[in-house]
Order: sequence, then C-alpha cells, then structure tokens
Amino acid sequence: MIEVREIVKNYGSIEALRGVSFDIQPGEIVGLLGPNGAGKSTAIKIITGFLHPDAGSVSIDGLDVTESPRAAQSNIGYLSENTPLYPELSVQAYLTMMADLRALPASARIGLLSKAVYGTGLQDFLTRPIASLSKGLRQRLGLAQAILHQPRFLILDEPTVGLDPTQIIEIRGLIKSLARESTILFSSHILSEVEALCDRVIIIINGEVKADQSLRALRASDTATVVLEREDDAVASALAGMKGVSGLRRLRSADDYPAYRITSSADITPRIFALARQQNWALRELRRDSVTLETFFNQLATTA
Ligand code: ADP
Repeated sequence: MIEVREIVKNYGSIEALRGVSFDIQPGEIVGLLGPNGAGKSTAIKIITGFLHPDAGSVSIDGLDVTESPRAAQSNIGYLSENTPLYPELSVQAYLTMMADLRALPASARIGLLSKAVYGTGLQDFLTRPIASLSKGLRQRLGLAQAILHQPRFLILDEPTVGLDPTQIIEIRGLIKSLARESTILFSSHILSEVEALCDRVIIIINGEVKADQSLRALRASDTATVVLEREDDAVASALAGMKGVSGLRRLRSADDYPAYRITSSADITPRIFALARQQNWALRELRRDSVTLETFFNQLATTA
C-alpha cells in the first residue's frame, strides 16, 4: 500500500504541492489527473524518493521513502517523464545494465530479463541501438526497465506523452496487461486515458487534491440541474433533504438565473418535478445531466 500524507513542496515562491494526501491499495490502477503545472510530476518524484518533500511523508508497504529510500524503491518500478536511456547502447545492453544496477540475483536474471522483454514486446529489437528506436519503442523500453525487478508498484509519469495515436493505444494496452501483476499509479492530463485505464482517479489542481473518486461510482452517479426564476432558499433545503441526494451545489445558469446542481445515486428528476409542483416552485428549467469524467473534471477546474 502507498500512503501519501500531507506532502508539501515549494520551489522558491511556487507552491507546487500544498498538503497532498491519498492512499493506493494493492491491485488498484489509479490515475493522477490534472492540468499541466498542477503538481503531478512533483508528487510522483516525491513518492518514488527522487525528491524530498518540504513537509509530509510517503510510505510504501510501511517503509518511509525519505528514511529508507533504497528499501522503499525496491518495491517500485518508475517510468519518469524523461527516462534516461543511453542512445549508444543496444536494447539488450541497456536492460543488462539496469539488471546490474538493480542487483538482480544471477539465478533469476535471465528469467526476469526475458519476462520484461517479452512483456513489452521488445524481443525483435534487442540488438537495435536505442538511438534508432521510435518514441513508442523507447517508451516500451522505459516500461521494460521499470518492470525488470517485478516491483509491486508501478509509477508512471505521463506514459503516453509525445506518442502518436497508434503508439498510445499500444502503450495503454501494455499498461492494462501490467496491471494484472502490479499496482499502478500513473499521471496524465488526458481525461480519456484515465477513463480508459483506471479504477480510480485522483484529481490535482494547483497543488491540491480536488477529488479522489472511483470511476465506477462516478459512472453510477447522476446529476440534475434545477434553474429557478428567482432566488428561493426553501428550494435548497428541500433539495438537500431529498432521499438519495449526495451533493448540492449552488450556481448560476448560463442566462444568469439562480440554479442548483444535485448529485444523486439515480435519476432524481421525476421526484424533483413532483416536489416542485407540490411546493409551487418558480421552476425555469429541470435537466438531467450525464456524469462523465469530463463534466466532473470541468466542474472542479472551473470552481478551483
Ligand atoms: P505537472 O506534472 O502537473 O505538470 P509539476 O509538478 O511539473 O506539474 O509542476 C508543478 C509546479 O511547480 C509548476 O508551477 C512548475 O512550473 C513548478 N516546478 C516544477 N518543477 C520545478 C523546478 N525544478 N523548479 C521550479 N519550479 C518547478
């Protein structure tokens, strides 16, 4: 299990992380989603022990990353934004070097190397110099070094950035297959990617966790928007008191009328309509909205 507790990181006057906390349970595949500059890479560098937080702590299976970086890192495979790949080395020479650096035991080395190579589909490229590999193949090589020591946790920073659409599909497929054996945390600013791969999404905006949300629960939730002709405080308390309502937010409609967004576990619009008639609300509009990661994210981004 990964436990991130109240991590803070400043770069001079830039507050990159302002007290970020979350847990990753074994077997999960979790997306760290946020706009560019939100603090995702900083969080990942701290979790993997490559950067010290100014405050807060991270533990991996109970090992504190700052106090015992080596031991904690032995459970992690890390694909950084720019994994250092030595262009003059062949794929095979690079992976052998990484096996040395990881001090893989001689008895297991061949088996682990071939598992990483076949797992990432690099078997036909072993003698190729890294300099001659496409971006997609380099990314596969980055993944191969990350899984070489069979870590329980795979932490991937923007694994598909800079890839073409075919390569993106390929790397996503690879991540899905790796998820059968490892717990995965990856960062992305691409909503569809997170939606396609994850069980859960943690949304970071301006260095803060704005949501930690199961995607299944998100898909199962419903929202309705109620627009009124004029302000009426009784409406808000009646809506909040309705059975099945899990969230109520006050907003303005596009044409500037008072409005409420209601989140619920099922379609609640027929009951709202009945209540509005019974209570004689000055109802202007009642609408059911489907909840997608995009609408959810946009709501958070616009209220940030
Ligand atoms: P993300 O990965 O979500 O794009 P980052 O963690 O890279 O976000 O950056 C968060 C904030 O910290 C940004 O404002 C970025 O400009 C700043 N930042 C990141 N790394 C450094 C650094 N080494 N020096 C100064 N500022 C940095």
